[in-house]
Amino acid sequence: MSLNWLAMDARLADIARKIDHGDRLDADDGALLFDTPDLWTLGELANRVRRAKHGDAAYYNVNQHLNYSNVCLLSCRFCEFQRKPGQAGAYEFSIEQIAQKGRDAQARGATEMHIVGGLHPKLSFDYYLEMLRTLKTEAPKLHLKAFTAVEIVHLARVSKQALRKDFAGGVKVVLEALRDAGLDSLPGGGAEVFDDRVHDEAWRGKIRSDEWLTVHRVAHEVGLFTNATMLYGHIETRENRVQHLLKLRDEQDHALQNELPGRFQCVIPLPFFPDGSALQHLPGPSGLENLRTLAVARLMLDNIEHVKAFWIMQTLPMAQVMLDWGADDVDGTVVWYDITKVGGAGTHQEVTIDTMRRTIREAGYRPVERDTLYRPVVRDGAKWSVHHASDTTADRVYILK
Ligand code: SF4
Repeated sequence: MSLNWLAMDARLADIARKIDHGDRLDADDGALLFDTPDLWTLGELANRVRRAKHGDAAYYNVNQHLNYSNVCLLSCRFCEFQRKPGQAGAYEFSIEQIAQKGRDAQARGATEMHIVGGLHPKLSFDYYLEMLRTLKTEAPKLHLKAFTAVEIVHLARVSKQALRKDFAGGVKVVLEALRDAGLDSLPGGGAEVFDDRVHDEAWRGKIRSDEWLTVHRVAHEVGLFTNATMLYGHIETRENRVQHLLKLRDEQDHALQNELPGRFQCVIPLPFFPDGSALQHLPGPSGLENLRTLAVARLMLDNIEHVKAFWIMQTLPMAQVMLDWGADDVDGTVVWYDITKVGGAGTHQEVTIDTMRRTIREAGYRPVERDTLYRPVVRDGAKWSVHHASDTTADRVYILK
């Protein structure tokens, strides 16, 4: 690997050699990557790994978000989304409202519905099963990527699984029921940062890291692909971030070594936004810290294929830069995202496919529309299909356009 050796932090030379030889980085390497003032070499290292995996491809999808309710039993300190029952602004969608959103999404050519909500105290397990069944009937082309691990555990409690006696067994019953009703994959939220101190100070009551990881392990066992987030830039330390990434890497090793039918597809570092949360006195991470964290994630997670620059939180201009810092995916065209926004309450963010593709090209990359499972999509307006390698006509469409 050629690097500008004169300008680089000499401590990074060993890490560069490890990456060059395909050797795994350890916790000390992760700490050094967070400590080095030589951000540019860090970015170059991450970009080398990203280009080795994906060349000049930069993935996006055409998706729709559905936040079925903001009513939540918990009060995570970073969350500006949740409302208590009866509080101004609290809502929950009926099954018919959800069906209409599915029909609308399919009609405009979305390939995926991303579904998450609060931990509602009153909605029955049947509501969630009905939601999935109805969407599969009304909008069968949509991939249903739904429910964080936190929601899955909530649903296990709602459906009266004996989690204290057999946590994994109760989660399995629920995941299989949801899968059979139409659940296709898990989005990966709710991981926050895998550390008990941070958990107890910032989101006590939410599941801890061991439970989050168990939910994903069971999901992989029952054939569901999942993603994994990391919420950073609040009261955690950089060491906490390294440990978080290592735990994800270990879990992915487990899935791969045991040839489970599911695995992590993508990691999504999420910067903390203080505004409106109970932690709004904190500054939140800087742009450079966002780049650094993304690059470290790319370098530490050698067994997870994709790293996402979630543009709706990072902004599209920042996502363009992030494609040079380890990201290969910028998420979707996104309609109606309510959980955390760059622009504050009431800003429903969306870009057109043309804008997305132009943005990626402008950054020097080749836009590739993907479905949720990262298969290239061939599109003609709202009509789309998954690309098959033998289809050279389709090849021209998605590669050269
Ligand atoms: S982050 Fe999720 S679980 Fe926590 S308060 Fe917000 S909606 Fe509820």
